[in-house]
Amino acid sequence: MSRYTGSKCRLCRRQGMKLFLKGERCYTDKCAFEKRPFPPGVHKGARRRLSGYGVQLREKQKVRFIYGISETQFKGYFARASKMPGVTGENLLSLLERRLDNVVFRMGLASSRSEARQMVLHGHFLVNGRKVNIPSYLVEKGDVVEVSPRGRNNERIKSALDREMGITPPQWMDVDMANLKATILREPNREDIEYPVQEQLIVEFYSK
Ligand code: SF4
Repeated sequence: MSRYTGSKCRLCRRQGMKLFLKGERCYTDKCAFEKRPFPPGVHKGARRRLSGYGVQLREKQKVRFIYGISETQFKGYFARASKMPGVTGENLLSLLERRLDNVVFRMGLASSRSEARQMVLHGHFLVNGRKVNIPSYLVEKGDVVEVSPRGRNNERIKSALDREMGITPPQWMDVDMANLKATILREPNREDIEYPVQEQLIVEFYSK
């Protein structure tokens, strides 16, 4: 299964929660989930009862959609997380948080992870002084992520600063907005994940 290219709002409605996939629109009354908080394709209030497998699948899809990655990539993260010391589910979330596109989003320089991904692909960010245009690049403790000289003139970044999207940076990074840079203080841990997720269900999904 490759990356999903259909309606993002359908994913929120299917998941029964806001996944914040469309940037600014998600914070307005134009949000499709606010207007139609029931699954697409069924009558208002009707929800299918899911099997145990269905619940696990939905949890896995939720996290995959939030970070906007393909099934193959997600499986790769899971395989890596399961080989790391510690709790596999928590390792998985930590790996996903460390992606460069997520870091840019968390810094408040993009309104969504997909916008952050585009910015990274266009080479607007440096890691430790070197251009990195790979959204899946994993940052490490001590890394410094900053907007490149060319990126400072990028309209999206300028408008993100103008909009002051009110995204509070997580505690595992120190954001210096005046200089458009962030220093990674430590690896993200479970307490840093603010959206509701039962990662154990994802572990069970892949353990079958
Ligand atoms: Fe989800 Fe609402 Fe954003 Fe659409 S606008 S992606 S429904 S949070």
